Amino acid sequence: MIRVINNIKNWLFPEKCIVCDCEVFENAVYCPKCFSQITRIESPFCEICGRILPFPIGEKNLCESCANFAQNFNFCRALFVYDFHSKKIVMKIKKQADMDVARKCCLMLTSKYERFIFDADFIIPVPSFWTRTLRRGFNPADIIAIELSKNLNIPLDLKALKRIRKTEYQKNKTKVEREKNIENAFLCEGNIRGKKILLIDDVMTTGTTLNECAKALKMAGASVVVGLTIASTKALK
Ligand SMILES: [Zn+2]
Ligand SMILES: [Zn+2]
Repeated sequence: MIRVINNIKNWLFPEKCIVCDCEVFENAVYCPKCFSQITRIESPFCEICGRILPFPIGEKNLCESCANFAQNFNFCRALFVYDFHSKKIVMKIKKQADMDVARKCCLMLTSKYERFIFDADFIIPVPSFWTRTLRRGFNPADIIAIELSKNLNIPLDLKALKRIRKTEYQKNKTKVEREKNIENAFLCEGNIRGKKILLIDDVMTTGTTLNECAKALKMAGASVVVGLTIASTKALK
């Protein structure tokens, strides 16, 4: 009976490829073409920021940035290399609040990184400034955080972290400009002393936003901050 209902459901609402929207087999995430085009993050990746590396580096596999600068997060992990193909997935969450795509991405994140994240105390998304959330109608990181919270059964705190000033869009800014733009833009008012936090965003580009959020969380007493995103840019070296 359940199979019959599922067959009818799939006929009425066929599963779609998360990249191109074409119809896929039941429980499949991508169509074969997108599967071959999208770059999943696999070893070697930087042990700290989680970015894919062009080749293994030393014993610890640290990218140049993490080898030279201390990060406020303990480590970050992502599913895909941020490029033309994975951007389509990110945009579905960012522009359309596509919960189905968010759900599939979260299932992949939890199965891929479960051993890193199972014992977190709270899931906290990177916040937008309130005027931006109001205009868009939602905060993209909230959508991923809500799905992950359901999936992992870890409490969600949407109010702990606040963006206390409006920042300019980070696109087309250099790393130094981005750092200046976002410095001290976040404040954590949640009761998270001694807690392990899963910090959620859609994409990690230079990492400055996740790093500033992690700084605010650590200042509020968080013991561990682990960042999770759908995609991250490649490490330069
Ligand atoms: Zn496809
Ligand atoms: Zn790194």
